[in-house]
Amino acid sequence: MIIPIYSCFHPVLKKHTSPVPEIDDDLKKLVENMFETMYKADGIGLAANQVGVDKSLIVIDINASKEKHRDEPPITMINPVIEKFSDEEIEYEEGCLSVPKFYEKVMRPEIIQIRYFDLDMKEHIVEAGNLLSRVMQHEVDHLNGIIFTERLSSINRTLAKSKLKKIQKGQIVPDYPFINSDGKLLK
Ligand code: ZN
Repeated sequence: MIIPIYSCFHPVLKKHTSPVPEIDDDLKKLVENMFETMYKADGIGLAANQVGVDKSLIVIDINASKEKHRDEPPITMINPVIEKFSDEEIEYEEGCLSVPKFYEKVMRPEIIQIRYFDLDMKEHIVEAGNLLSRVMQHEVDHLNGIIFTERLSSINRTLAKSKLKKIQKGQIVPDYPFINSDGKLLK
């Protein structure tokens, strides 16, 4: 089932999400729907609060990106925490399903160590680099109420202002179900 994605200007994306206490059938169904929604919208990562659900939960599939990076399987991350960031930072162009048709370069640490649980409540501690590190940092930011546009350099933020205003006003919309800053469902 495709779930509408919330605009970055909706309050649901400005709050910290709550930890997932246990895995049940509802959560598994939600994960399934999040993957379906992400693929439909041509995304490579989606956080639960982007579909209006207050849970510390992320789905990622970087093989869904246009350039095939490597054979990373789809990942479900429950209660993820980034434990280490490399000192080296790199610039990479990011986009976001909550910020339609907007892409901009962002500086972030190159490599991270992240701890999370999978759908069997098995704990994982992994080191990630490249695109995977980038997507994980972007999605964990969502769970902490942070949008990637807040991480733009000040000059890029200034340049982006008018386009972001248009997104806020609903003048730029995606071709997937989208809930605007005022809570209205746009088709
Ligand atoms: Zn995003």
